[in-house]
Amino acid sequence: MKYKHAVMMVVLTIISSFYKPNIQTLPFILELYDTNTIQEIMKLDKQDIELLSKMRYIPYLSLYLQDSNFQFNKLARYIWWQDQYPYYDLYQIIIEVNLDKDLLLTKTYADFYQDAKPVTNINTIDVLVNKQHYLPSDYQPVLNNGLQQDCYKAIQELLLVAKTHNYFFDIKSKYRSYDYQKWLYSYYQTIADDADRISCKAGFSEHQTGLVVDLAPKGKQINEIIDYEGYSWLEQNAHTFGFILRYPENKDMLTGIQYEPWHFRYVGKEIASILYENQWTLEEYHELYKDK
Ligand SMILES: [Zn+2]
Repeated sequence: MKYKHAVMMVVLTIISSFYKPNIQTLPFILELYDTNTIQEIMKLDKQDIELLSKMRYIPYLSLYLQDSNFQFNKLARYIWWQDQYPYYDLYQIIIEVNLDKDLLLTKTYADFYQDAKPVTNINTIDVLVNKQHYLPSDYQPVLNNGLQQDCYKAIQELLLVAKTHNYFFDIKSKYRSYDYQKWLYSYYQTIADDADRISCKAGFSEHQTGLVVDLAPKGKQINEIIDYEGYSWLEQNAHTFGFILRYPENKDMLTGIQYEPWHFRYVGKEIASILYENQWTLEEYHELYKDK
């Protein structure tokens, strides 16, 4: 067994010198997967091998990788679809997700609250707060000007660089307390047909983390941002400052929230770039990277 492992290491070193993945990250893959799976992994692009090397153990990975229709950036969605339809074979799972069948909204925005759990990674930069994960009512982050310090510095930097391109944004919303969110939600209940489509119950709003900004073009409203000439710059560059567009279009089934072009979440540059490059939501990132 030891001999087999040593041979595998040599083979891997030869293959990896061709693909040039970060060799220091490979021992983790070696620990988690069998030889067959490792061989399949080594056929992936360098970037995908590096991403995979930091992920949790993915069951059935070699079966996924052997399917010619497999797309690496849809991995979390395959896993979810398979959970929902365990009697489908993997070929069918991959085909249906590739056709975006999993993205069709098949429940109400209120249904997302079912079986919600308390947030576990509360003081981390990639904390996941959504309709499935709520913050304690007394959670209050340390704030500077209504944002956690790193987020505050990053948005200042973003706004400054935006100005050099002649794009001007206002921050319309930052930290919101539990009590304020409670008031806001009940306000939306009085004015909107479906408050859960456009707002969250207290504890379930990411704004309570102090890691979020809602942006608008200067002097305008948040919903006008999509038509602003500086918006495509913002969309394409926010990740370089550590921000992600948290609720992308047509990803309601994954986030539980409709498209919000104004809502940007700070996760730090490294994670933001991974999410941007792979077009992952924070939910997908957590599925792949966090221990279950
Ligand atoms: Zn927001």
